[in-house]
Amino acid sequence: MTKKIIGLFGGTFDPVHLGHMYIAEKLLEELPLDEVRFIPCHQSNLRDPSIASPQQRLDMLQLAIAGKHKFTVDDWEIKQENISYTIDTIKHLKEKMPTASLWLIIGADVFVKFKQWHRYRDILNYAHLIIVNRSGYLIRDYVSTHDILIQKQTLDPELLEQSDHGSIFCQDVEPVDISATEIRRDITNNAVAEKLPASVYDYIQSNKLYGIT
Ligand code: ATP
Repeated sequence: MTKKIIGLFGGTFDPVHLGHMYIAEKLLEELPLDEVRFIPCHQSNLRDPSIASPQQRLDMLQLAIAGKHKFTVDDWEIKQENISYTIDTIKHLKEKMPTASLWLIIGADVFVKFKQWHRYRDILNYAHLIIVNRSGYLIRDYVSTHDILIQKQTLDPELLEQSDHGSIFCQDVEPVDISATEIRRDITNNAVAEKLPASVYDYIQSNKLYGIT
């Protein structure tokens, strides 16, 4: 039996935007992923509480992935109603799907803070790490994570399939200069609509999120 490869795409998604969607689509094209699973956190220990509620962030993700083959949303972290630690989520998924290979997707901005993650070393005992570039961040320039990259990076994505954890692969994607911070700040500017799936933009308007009156 060929094992299933699941890309885990965690984040706050406050809100999910076209930068996230582009990355997920690109990774499905470039890597042998069977699924990209979006996992909104309940609350990260490294950032302020979200503006939209956990349920609203989940709703927006459901709208964004509607009709998209191979995209799923996992509400496990939200249901825990607690600080979300990626290591706990990965261990939970491994127990639920012992034969699946889990590839954790993160942006370069998140990787540079990887050593602040709870039990970060343990994560590579259960999953591979896929890092995508993000405007303004050059992974190789960050001293704090340089040692992990030297030890764990593979340049050949085919090697990822030979084991189900322990390697880091940097996937080059065209940088998309969109962030949720900028969307929350500029939501009343009509140009923001171009950075969001239309259904998510409508949801934000109807639910008067991010300061819409
Ligand atoms: P915020 O501005 O609130 O920090 P964000 O746009 O970074 O939000 P998150 O939900 O925090 O979105 O990000 C989830 C994941 O998606 C992270 O790994 C982040 O690096 C990645 N990501 C988000 N936007 C982009 C983008 N435009 N290009 C590459 N990676 C991105």
